[in-house]
Amino acid sequence: MTHSALAPEEVARLKKAATAASLATATVMIGLKVGAWAITDSISVLTSMMDSILDFSVGLMNFVAVRKALSPANRFHRFGFGKVEPLAVLAEAVFLFGVAIMIIIEAIDRLRHPHPISHAELGAWAMAAVIVLTIGLLIYQRHVIRKTGSLVVQADAIHYAADVMIHVGIIFSLLLSDLAGVFWVDSAFACGVAFYLVWNAKTILSESVGILLDGELPDNERHKIRDLALSHPEVKGVHDLRTRSAGPQKFIQLHVEMNPNLSLRDAHRYTEETIDLILAAYPDAEVQIHEEPVGMPRHRSWCAEAGPIIPGQYAGPKD
Ligand SMILES: [Zn+2]
Ligand SMILES: [Zn+2]
Repeated sequence: MTHSALAPEEVARLKKAATAASLATATVMIGLKVGAWAITDSISVLTSMMDSILDFSVGLMNFVAVRKALSPANRFHRFGFGKVEPLAVLAEAVFLFGVAIMIIIEAIDRLRHPHPISHAELGAWAMAAVIVLTIGLLIYQRHVIRKTGSLVVQADAIHYAADVMIHVGIIFSLLLSDLAGVFWVDSAFACGVAFYLVWNAKTILSESVGILLDGELPDNERHKIRDLALSHPEVKGVHDLRTRSAGPQKFIQLHVEMNPNLSLRDAHRYTEETIDLILAAYPDAEVQIHEEPVGMPRHRSWCAEAGPIIPGQYAGPKD
């Protein structure tokens, strides 16, 4: 793959630059859309401005995440503040659901009492500027994705590509309202954009809720963590693997089984080595391992209810 050829510092630099570009673009877009909305009084422009506000906050979250500028843990919050971001996004997504409903109500009202659009041409020019800006961002993001394979940048790019279509639609609806005097087009299109906004907010909402409710890492990651622990020659079994993430930071905890006749000194050393094996693959993680003699009866298994480490796989003594 192309991206493995780059030095890690270069990959980090590109990811940082991409999140900065995305944030800057969203900021300029909000400005252009506020202007376009004030001039035209178009409800579809207003709706797409709301979408840009959501894009801005997601951009801000990614910007902070790749810089790890999270507030450090303190005496009263020893796990840090990684959940501040998903919490903020949750609040915002809920707010935008409300905004979308209000927009749909307003759009229906305007359908019944047509509302003229003023200076549609100026509004269309502003939206054209937004499109040019978005395409510039997409070209840059493509470059970064090719070099780094970053999933965060990829998700961002998919969203901005869909935004381009929305913006083209808004230009058409502005011009149609103005040139042909069919003012209902703006309201009808605004309803469409409002649904798009809800769909966008829903995706982000489910991600945030997953983090806030300590969602497990995906099965393939759990599988990888388990195999990393088992790759240590002294680790005879692994069970009670639990994972969660708070923004960029991951928390990984598991039990490992070792030879019962090891000294505490050796058992501790092998455990530290196992932690290092996992940290090599998850440098941002906090890893906690409890070691115990192989084959001990599990009188206190916190994960018994949740089943084996990977459902349907390795349902043997090592789980
Ligand atoms: Zn958007
Ligand atoms: Zn155990």
